[in-house]
Amino acid sequence: MPTLVSHPDEVKVISRRFGQGAAEIDKYLELDGYKAVQKAIAEGPEWIINTMKASGLRGRGGAGFPTGMKWSFVPKQSEKPKYVLVNGDESEPGTCKDHVIFLHDPHAVIEGTMIAGLAIGSKMGFIYLRGEYRYLLKIMEKAVADAYAKGFLGKNIFGSGVDFDIVTQSGAGAYEVGEESALMESLEGKRGVPRIKPPFPAVVGLYGGPTVINNAETIASAPHILLMGGEEYAKIGSERNGGTRLFGISGHVERPGVYELPMGYNLKKAIYDVAGGIKDGKKLKAVVPGGSSCPVLLPEEIDVGLDFDQMGKAGTMLGSGGIVVLDETVSIVEFALRTIAFYQHESCGWCIPCREGTDWIKKTLTRVYNGGGSKKDVANVQYLAENMMGRTFCPLGDAAAMPTLGFVKKFRKEFEDYIEGHKAGTPIITVEQLVGAH
Ligand code: SF4
Repeated sequence: MPTLVSHPDEVKVISRRFGQGAAEIDKYLELDGYKAVQKAIAEGPEWIINTMKASGLRGRGGAGFPTGMKWSFVPKQSEKPKYVLVNGDESEPGTCKDHVIFLHDPHAVIEGTMIAGLAIGSKMGFIYLRGEYRYLLKIMEKAVADAYAKGFLGKNIFGSGVDFDIVTQSGAGAYEVGEESALMESLEGKRGVPRIKPPFPAVVGLYGGPTVINNAETIASAPHILLMGGEEYAKIGSERNGGTRLFGISGHVERPGVYELPMGYNLKKAIYDVAGGIKDGKKLKAVVPGGSSCPVLLPEEIDVGLDFDQMGKAGTMLGSGGIVVLDETVSIVEFALRTIAFYQHESCGWCIPCREGTDWIKKTLTRVYNGGGSKKDVANVQYLAENMMGRTFCPLGDAAAMPTLGFVKKFRKEFEDYIEGHKAGTPIITVEQLVGAH
């Protein structure tokens, strides 16, 4: 069970109930639970969407799309039922923030799902958890059952005349299913591969009905935003990046953990102050700032604000909030190989640039790592990654290519050292040993 961490610079909005037993419905009610959904019923859909727009909340799954705007895209009239789908398929290596919400505040996910449903005129929500979160599924299922037992879900919620049901669903362990259209395929019981877009889910989504798909943290933020007001929430963050978000800081830091920081908080401060700096006084070598798909940053590049826009200007991404800190002992060649091995394994194989590109990069980096590389290998890896970019059916291809390009561009000499045999103690290891876990 993860230990809760804390730091004075945190602004606790979404984490304010963590560690207080709020997974129990009575405790959740004591801590203002289910007040936001009642307010949403009283005020109506337009007020909900306007409040979400004013909050500046942008999707916490990684894409950063404004939530209020996404909800407003769903057609008001629809012959088919509308759905809310919560994406809790948190599978990006380095990302570990949705799980703390499911663990400590599952009713916030339920209440957020109801609010999204009220906003778009839906009577049905699905909460989809990654397959490996089996123990969290039990917590979510109990929370949903408790909400039904209190009469908060089902027919005529809070005497409003509105019905709303929620179903929880577990994945089968595929990273690809985090992509929204593959998520819908999986939920419908099919193989989790992406759909052709357009049509977009807001118009033709789950079971062919208009569907809002949001990350679990995004959805769980909604009740807090409705209670505190959109403008107040927006003020906490930086320009065009309202509020706070959960950052999972892992790797070689003194105090790894999930911290809630205002959007725009300085990355260097997050590593050195909040997470206590580099473990055992070692030197920082590199930072992967937002989950494994984000291009790496060098130590001299980390004096930057943690929001979607500032990270983009720095040549990387805010991603899913998973900050992975690497000290001077880390082999970037090994790290790059482990990263591509993950994406090669998770590629659904549909499109050639992703299926073949990830495989050939993995093969080439394995050779380099094992000391058998040739001088052309670094250029070949770069060529392969560049030719994957923008040429794949879903974002997984880019997610594999971007970090690879970052590693070979910023640490080229280290790759060349392996090839030229200068790297002391080049390990003898088979790819099966290295990536066996995948
Ligand atoms: Fe499948 Fe990769 Fe193509 Fe996505 S990019 S559809 S994961 S082969």
